[in-house]
Amino acid sequence: MARTSVFRFSALALLLLSAFCWADNEAEEQLSVSERLSRANSNLIRSVDEPILIEGDIAIDSEAERNADPCTSRGCMWGKWSDGKVYIPYYITNHFSSREKAIITRGLESFSSFSCIRFRPSRSDDRDWLQIESQNGCWSYVGRSGGKQVVSLARSGCLYHGTVQHELLHALGFNHEQTRSDRDNHIQVLLHNVVSGMQHNFNKIATLNQGTPYDYNSVMQYHKYAFSRNNQPTMLPIPNPNVSFGNAQEMSRNDKARLNTLYKC
Ligand SMILES: [Zn+2]
Repeated sequence: MARTSVFRFSALALLLLSAFCWADNEAEEQLSVSERLSRANSNLIRSVDEPILIEGDIAIDSEAERNADPCTSRGCMWGKWSDGKVYIPYYITNHFSSREKAIITRGLESFSSFSCIRFRPSRSDDRDWLQIESQNGCWSYVGRSGGKQVVSLARSGCLYHGTVQHELLHALGFNHEQTRSDRDNHIQVLLHNVVSGMQHNFNKIATLNQGTPYDYNSVMQYHKYAFSRNNQPTMLPIPNPNVSFGNAQEMSRNDKARLNTLYKC
């Protein structure tokens, strides 16, 4: 009898708990990629053997690379094959559950539905590949850096379709929308509202914009309060400061168009 009521109690507790988790998940679903990145990457304590992160989620190996556009200086694009496809080997480390792996795989495979990019499982003779790991936060290098290249998708906070696409776009050579060379025509950066020491996140980069318009709905656009020290906006759209931006949950039409232009798909 006692055992039955314990069982009943645990079943009820489990039911309530899952109801709460469900409600929590519902709210979570509404978050934009940009908000998810800020959450997952806030208050990260990084160890010395981890790469330096700039702009919240871009990994660099040394401070000197900060303002450079690696793609223009080093040719960081991934190579195209004679069939017109760009094959990018990836390896997903085994610390993800099968459900988590499925989210990552869905993100990887989404690129083949709108571009010539084909992520494929790595083989032992691959020279360059993406190693998808759950390290501290969500981050990636910009472009192909050669050899094994980590894309970190932390199990807590990074496993969402749009977040996977965002980090893969970095690995393909794309920077954040707000660092575009022409951003001053579209976004006013309010440096006085930015956390001290984080101002470099708003440095402009000599990006190749390939004739694509500045896109407030890009999955690479950070939100209005990114790196805010005082809950005041750090970016305002020009000319209408009330236009909403940085709310993308996945790649926009422009994100797909510029990927196809860059890789001449
Ligand atoms: Zn990013």
